Amino acid sequence: MAFWRSKKKEDLPQPSEQKNESSQHPTSSDPSENQVTDAAQALIQEQSTIKPPEGETTPAKSGGLFAKMRGALSKTRQALSTDIRDLFKSDGRLVDDEFLGELFARLIRTDMGVGCAEAIRDDVEMRLKSRVVQMEEVLATITEQTRSMLEQESTAIRYASDGPTVILVVGVNGSGKTTSIGKLANHLHRSGKRVVLGAGDTFRAAAVEQLTIWAGRIGCEIVTGKPEADPASVAYQTVEKAVEINADVAIIDTAGRLQTQTNLMQQLEKIRRVVGKKIEDAPHEVILVLDSTAGQNAISQARGFSDAANCTGIILAKLDGSAKGGVILPIRDQFKLPVKFVGLGEGIEDIAEFDASTFAKALFAQ
Ligand code: GDP
Ligand code: MG
Repeated sequence: MAFWRSKKKEDLPQPSEQKNESSQHPTSSDPSENQVTDAAQALIQEQSTIKPPEGETTPAKSGGLFAKMRGALSKTRQALSTDIRDLFKSDGRLVDDEFLGELFARLIRTDMGVGCAEAIRDDVEMRLKSRVVQMEEVLATITEQTRSMLEQESTAIRYASDGPTVILVVGVNGSGKTTSIGKLANHLHRSGKRVVLGAGDTFRAAAVEQLTIWAGRIGCEIVTGKPEADPASVAYQTVEKAVEINADVAIIDTAGRLQTQTNLMQQLEKIRRVVGKKIEDAPHEVILVLDSTAGQNAISQARGFSDAANCTGIILAKLDGSAKGGVILPIRDQFKLPVKFVGLGEGIEDIAEFDASTFAKALFAQ
């Protein structure tokens, strides 16, 4: 008997929920199992024929990461550097209290928060006070300070020592969970991992469909439930599937909103329990997806989830659309969670492992 069978019955997915809910894309033949509309199927076929150009690798591998990060941060950088450029005359500027005050006001506009803007200002003061400096020198100081504030131990996924690694993905509706899962799954798939997706956001039919399309594009397996199926049962079956086919990684999507926040947190807790019954130390990662365009609101989102869901890391999505990329600083500062990946667009390749040095340079590079 497997060790999890001895646990309380209500924690386990019920047999009726387990039946017929697992589908393996794209070979599912039973129409009642198939949650994908004809339109979505057409999209899958169209998209699965799109092959990346010869020799193209993920951004992190191609060495184009800096360019990509720089491109994604262009809105934040423009807002910031136009502002900072205003501070200087052609013959430089004296670093005095007035300058430091103006610099602080400009840093704050990136949504980096008072504490982080103060830390950067104080560092500029300590290094450059009473000197006449050029903009480049100030930017170099700010870049270095930002890098050191963002430095973190490791961004790598914590893989299970044995058997499939289970990654649970949480966050508010619209933050970019499903898209980030698609991109992450592709990233892992292309690095040689066998990936199974679990469509655990059964609250919205469109979310299942959306994830199914991603699975089709990548060519990985997906486990879906019937509409409004118990997400914990879908999560359980996803892990079961991963074990059965000897997959390396199972990535489970979750709902971002239920009737109440309490329901949502209870649901996440149940998912955690249930996957932990199949694999003892699962989930190995609980990744919180934050929308960087939300600026300071992303911080309250993080607060809502990080404790209740026992998050282990962050994906900062939509950096490309954000002029508030500075929000990453208070997020790192307050939650001490590593930022594992950043979302740099809606395309399948638009994800990169987070790197403090690249990020800081891309944020301030002229
Ligand atoms: P979910 O509700 O958390 O699953 O969010 P979705 O994955 O459905 O994403 C919500 C919207 O944000 C969709 O229109 C996505 O295409 C878009 N989106 C997600 N990630 C990114 C990103 O990194 N960059 C951009 N520009 N858009 C993104
Ligand atoms: Mg979703």
